[in-house]
Amino acid sequence: MRLLEKAPAKINLALDVLYKRPDEYHEVEMVMTTVDLSDRIELSPLREDEIRIVSENRFVPNDQRNLAYQAAQLVKNTYQIREGVEIFIEKQIPVAAGLAGGSSDAAAVLRGLNRLWDLELTAEQLAELGTQIGSDVAFCVYGGTALATGRGEQIRELPTPPPCWVVLAKPSIGVSTQAIYQNLNLNDVQHPDTQKMIQALEDGDYNEMCARIGNVLEPVTSQLHAEVGQIKNHMKEFGADAVLMSGSGPTVFGLVQQESRAHRIYNGLRGFCEEVYVIRMLGNRHALD
Ligand code: ATP
Repeated sequence: MRLLEKAPAKINLALDVLYKRPDEYHEVEMVMTTVDLSDRIELSPLREDEIRIVSENRFVPNDQRNLAYQAAQLVKNTYQIREGVEIFIEKQIPVAAGLAGGSSDAAAVLRGLNRLWDLELTAEQLAELGTQIGSDVAFCVYGGTALATGRGEQIRELPTPPPCWVVLAKPSIGVSTQAIYQNLNLNDVQHPDTQKMIQALEDGDYNEMCARIGNVLEPVTSQLHAEVGQIKNHMKEFGADAVLMSGSGPTVFGLVQQESRAHRIYNGLRGFCEEVYVIRMLGNRHALD
């Protein structure tokens, strides 16, 4: 038996950092939504009691450093499973890009093993397990659109954003999330208005959604990597309605309503950036089906 799971990327429509907690985590407020760019995860039972990661992507580790491996290990340990599994990861999401690729793979493994091993765990239980792996995994268990608070693990479902196209552009640099947070000076930031973003989604107001996007980490990454600002400027010149860096970057996304305009931006950016994608915003939980 072989089991398939889709692991979609996310973008942040709003990312705010409120303060650093005594436990060293940052208290965040993020509006996240899934987009139509997914890794494909294939789970196959193994006779041997081991976890085997198979991937053709050279940036993806095939041992315990892989978040998908950690997810399988956690399920095995928590529920004393003595069976093995091979996890094949077909990577489509750029790695270390601010798109939660690794977290989404881990979430897909949690969902998939729940089925493969008949564990009958609820999404809430899977999200709780996911939190032990990384702060973004809980959101990825549900997908859709959500407000994530705490260190990112507390999830409140939000309405699906108005339909639109997303142009993603990833400069060919990797960014360490940890390094970006270390360089963040909370005394000198412009906080996005998360409540107004939530209101825009509740009203289904595309223009207001575009007006309210914001990411407190963007100036930090831009300062370290000039490419981020350059790509943002190009996207605006080519006609994006709103432009923002996702997560800790370096991927930049632009929003537009017309497909033709999305392709115009795509064509304009191809000269500056190797990895450019035109995709749809998904934003509802059925996107995982
Ligand atoms: P986030 O948006 O949650 O900060 P990201 O998109 O910036 O995540 P990932 O693509 O998840 O970053 O990769 C970050 C690091 O995690 C990489 O350096 C990679 O070596 C490691 N990693 C572990 N597991 C995976 C995986 N399944 N896919 C991709 N990278 C993984």
